[in-house]
Amino acid sequence: MGEFELIRRYFAAAACARMSGEADGVALGIGDDCALLGVAPGEQLAVSTDTLVAGVHFPEQGDPGLLGQRALAVSTSDLAGMGAAPVGFTLALTIPSVDPDWLAAFAHGLDAMAASCGMRLLGGDTTRGPLSMTLTVFGRLPSGQALLRSGARPGDLLCVGGALGDAAGALPIVLGERDGHTPEAAELLSRYWSPQPQLGLGQALRGRATAALDISDGLLADCAHIAAASSVSLIIEQSRVPLSSALLAVAGAEGGLQCALAGGDDYVLAFTLPADAAPGLREEGWPIHVIGHVARGEGVHLLDTAGRAVAPHRRGYNHFQG
Ligand code: ADP
Ligand code: MG
Repeated sequence: MGEFELIRRYFAAAACARMSGEADGVALGIGDDCALLGVAPGEQLAVSTDTLVAGVHFPEQGDPGLLGQRALAVSTSDLAGMGAAPVGFTLALTIPSVDPDWLAAFAHGLDAMAASCGMRLLGGDTTRGPLSMTLTVFGRLPSGQALLRSGARPGDLLCVGGALGDAAGALPIVLGERDGHTPEAAELLSRYWSPQPQLGLGQALRGRATAALDISDGLLADCAHIAAASSVSLIIEQSRVPLSSALLAVAGAEGGLQCALAGGDDYVLAFTLPADAAPGLREEGWPIHVIGHVARGEGVHLLDTAGRAVAPHRRGYNHFQG
């Protein structure tokens, strides 16, 4: 099978490439030199790129369907962190060889996540080489309403959109180092393989949150980005960090907390909120978990139940540090 037949069969013909996108301003999808996106007056286009490399971001022999699903979720989560509405994505795929079963399963996984997020496949590139994929996502925003990292103010609440650490808790299972045959392990695995980007929450936070991002590298590491961009300090009360019962069952209280603080791959939103904005959001049914507050100063500070400062074990993942 040649490159063009491969593109046609697995990508151009996939359900996610044929979604109707007119309402989202997609004037032209796959098939020409470029896709064409319209931007309505008073709107901005949000764009983000993520690369996943086999052996670094996912196991080389990972299930291709789960991989497709996860790759799109991870990328789309950046749109959620910005408060953008989903439009679509491009896929630059590098594969070592043409394996029809692998490609069909991968495209199927992409389709599933694309349908659940409302993301259309707009184009891409297909090359031969060590397995990796680069997804670029596009979203729409009312001009000037993006949720930046730089707006947190002393006195704001620090919140997250759900339980943290599940994906990090699943990692030893994904790597085959821990038993995956319990219901709790299955729950953690599903959080690792199909995180659900919090697109609705992100859009609901527009005009309300003062800063936001999606947690991909661990709570402490990502909160440090908000603290630095906003020139404030973030105070996290350790006992208020939400942990799922599945994580507690698999990793224990201390292990679970470390997964939440320093583990990656949550794809849950962290945001700062003026205190008076919280009740309205809760009434609308959005998950708002207050874990601390914003103060003057710099950096991220962790407090134990007695309000004493605790030194975290480690702060998160960084590709170019040990
Ligand atoms: P060009 O040589 O002009 O870059 P390609 O032959 O790479 O075009 O691609 C042809 C069409 O197929 C383009 O519209 C491109 O966006 C699309 N395409 C190529 N690879 C993929 C892919 N992996 N997923 C989705 N669309 C793809
Ligand atoms: Mg090309």
